[in-house]
Amino acid sequence: MRLILVGPPGSGKGTQAKLLSKRLQLVHIGTGDILREAIREKTPIGRKAEPYILMGQLVPDDVVNEMVAERFRRDDRPDDFVIDGYPRTLAQAESFDQVLRQQFLDLTGVLLLCVDDDEIVRRMTGRLSCPVCKSTYHQVSKPPKEPGICDVCQNRLIQRSDDREETVRERLKYYHANTEGLIAHYQKQGLLHQISGVGPIEQIYDSILQELKQASPPC
Ligand code: AMP
Repeated sequence: MRLILVGPPGSGKGTQAKLLSKRLQLVHIGTGDILREAIREKTPIGRKAEPYILMGQLVPDDVVNEMVAERFRRDDRPDDFVIDGYPRTLAQAESFDQVLRQQFLDLTGVLLLCVDDDEIVRRMTGRLSCPVCKSTYHQVSKPPKEPGICDVCQNRLIQRSDDREETVRERLKYYHANTEGLIAHYQKQGLLHQISGVGPIEQIYDSILQELKQASPPC
């Protein structure tokens, strides 16, 4: 199965991608995580990406496209995957189409998680992340057992600089400006599935599976 998860920042793409990856044995590719790691490791891509991420803006298409294309050119390129955070623009979708064509891979579906802006702001300004194992928490809806400490690896949790309110609003502006073309692109290909991203995590996961089942009924 080859899935793309699209949705505003904080819509739960990462959470659903992790569940899909674990339960359906799909390789999880998250461009936000890859970029943050590149920044921590001070790689050339990290240096190029850092100012954009800090300002809540998209990293230029050519940087991200090359990073993803490189992942698919490697000998261990994934056959089955769930990718979240990419593509985010029409230009990225077109570049990814080309990468997949070169690898003779067809997409199974593109899942659009729908959540309105005010709900996103509420969610993201309370979000805490573990810089080491990447687990995410929320001060209200999913607090860690011990305040400020990761349940999984016991490291100190942080608020990502891109989770501050003004950065979130800025990111939402860019999200809306960029995704219209992207959504139309996948709609034209008959690949788009819209799913409500509001509600318990397991319920959203079930809606995704339901949607995928309806899209490919057993023969
Ligand atoms: P995320 O963790 O997916 O919310 O991504 C965090 C930040 O990484 C975004 O605000 C962007 O600055 C950058 N980023 C991640 N994926 C992409 C992408 N496909 N295109 C451009 N920038 C990206």
